[in-house]
Amino acid sequence: MMTLRCRHRPHRSPLLCFWLVLLLVVIAVLFMDPLFRDASRHAAIARHAPTAGHRWPAPADLELLVDSRDQGGEGGFRAPAFLRDDQLLVAPSSAPAERRGSGVAARDGRRRGEVEPRAGLSSLAGKAAGRATTSGEAAARRRAFDEAISEGISFHRRPPESRPAACLSQQYNTSLPTATVVVCFHDEAWSTLLRTIHSVLDTAPARHLREVLLVDDCSERGHLKTPLSKYVSKLKGVRLIRSARRLGVVGCRVLGAARALGDVLVFLDSHCECQQGWLEPLLERIAGDRSRVVSPVMDVIDGRTFRYNATRDLIRGVFDWKLDFHWEVLPKQKDPLKTVEPIRSPALAGVLAIDRQFFQKIGAYDPGMVLWGVENIELSIRVWLCGGSMEVIPCSRVGHLEQFHPSFTLPDDDTVEKNKIRVAETWLDAYKNIFYKRNTVAFFIWQSESSNCTERVKLQKMLGCKNFQWYLSNVHQDLYIPQDRQGFSGEARLTFYSVLSRHCEMNSLKEVRWGPMGQLCFDAKGDRVVLSQSDLLSLFPHQNGQIVHLLTEKCIEAVKTERKGLFLRPCSSDPRQQWHFEQLVDPRRS
Ligand code: UDP
Ligand code: MN
Repeated sequence: MMTLRCRHRPHRSPLLCFWLVLLLVVIAVLFMDPLFRDASRHAAIARHAPTAGHRWPAPADLELLVDSRDQGGEGGFRAPAFLRDDQLLVAPSSAPAERRGSGVAARDGRRRGEVEPRAGLSSLAGKAAGRATTSGEAAARRRAFDEAISEGISFHRRPPESRPAACLSQQYNTSLPTATVVVCFHDEAWSTLLRTIHSVLDTAPARHLREVLLVDDCSERGHLKTPLSKYVSKLKGVRLIRSARRLGVVGCRVLGAARALGDVLVFLDSHCECQQGWLEPLLERIAGDRSRVVSPVMDVIDGRTFRYNATRDLIRGVFDWKLDFHWEVLPKQKDPLKTVEPIRSPALAGVLAIDRQFFQKIGAYDPGMVLWGVENIELSIRVWLCGGSMEVIPCSRVGHLEQFHPSFTLPDDDTVEKNKIRVAETWLDAYKNIFYKRNTVAFFIWQSESSNCTERVKLQKMLGCKNFQWYLSNVHQDLYIPQDRQGFSGEARLTFYSVLSRHCEMNSLKEVRWGPMGQLCFDAKGDRVVLSQSDLLSLFPHQNGQIVHLLTEKCIEAVKTERKGLFLRPCSSDPRQQWHFEQLVDPRRS
């Protein structure tokens, strides 16, 4: 436009034209600059990329900070606008390693995944409520665990030995792949974060530890700014990168993975303590097969006392039909040598080790997942279906802090449900109906909001992954597959009221199954109906509305007097013996 005007009136103000053109050039350069910056950043990320296989880039619009010196205190968080890629890594480590040896001084938490069904659509109303506020975050933080107790404990404490005795004589190959230990954190307490870092430095052999990579997920707490940068700059082999945008566990780990230099990624929470010898058995299993994804046995650090409690049982990770994760206790092994063998695991929690190239090849984490929750289940299914396997390694032990409250607030009540919907829609095929029937909240969300999993389904096709039926037949064979027959499953109701508000089902074997794994069955104890896990199951045919206990030929009656509960009574026409099952949702019809 400007040029045209100039051309049309060349004689009027050539000087003005010159300035206008110059201004345009300057604006154009400023406009282009971020693009150049981005391009150079991606080029630099690519330099660190694995040499083979597909790579998943770090989230596109994050900003990495040089340092926190210009950030001010708590709340003064601002991302500097212009950074070159080679300035991105904070606090270059130059000082000698801090390795001070010993200091003074069952199960991991996917607990928040458990969301009880809420009455029908009312839950959707709650969804709009409660974006995270700073004061909300602060309150949550106060309650997460006892920080004062933690502050009194050495960064170098040596937890009591928790490995089975047979582990202590195990020898490991000295030429193992190297590890990058990725520790993502959001507003972690100083003492727990530092204890995590030091416990890695104190336990991981230097030849196997490429680096500890701290990834700050947009923390607000003051101690995580300049003080942390300064502290980390004195530690050898520790790098710190920061995101100015909240990435959540998924984004943060993907970013860490994109920056990692080691052969193997080890994801740790920011409140862990590693046992002696925890890293080598993990690396050895991966060295033997790069598609193995392995986890230490998670010991439990008590959030009130900071006592370190060893997990004595043999465990494996599983998930149920509500897509909640659990550690499942396995039968005891009599042979001590058997207690140290890797345990095939249908799923793993958040703490795990995975070959970096394999991680990138199979699609890292699902970037569509928001903030926190079930990303571990999605990864587990994908690993198994797309060519890998998962194991728990009994000789590797890491303590994880059991918090009594989430340390951060989720953007809304349904964040985890939405992540679960992504798992169901991407991976569960027709089995997703079983999930939706037991998770009616997720069903209603799915009905009212679209969840775009196209990219992940494409990935599945590209990788040639197997289907969920294969997972059920080959990986988690013990997971009970509900039949959910119409009229025989749903809430068990009497004529007027619901007696069992959770989904249960009467299958064609005449078992009444209950619980998100269908693992509990109706059984008779005297005249009382109980839930039992025993293999000697009672059979309960459903005849003319009555549920009959086959052995005694008595009927289940709901009693609401002083001995409240379900009882076996002589069959009669009493309405308290008239049962029907009501399915709250029918995903197949939607
Ligand atoms: N985390 C994060 N960003 C988030 C939420 C969590 O970086 O938005 C970090 C958190 O600090 C921790 C890890 O991710 O190091 C796992 O979170 P958390 O310990 O709360 O999960 P849980 O152990 O309860 O599964
Ligand atoms: Mn944790």
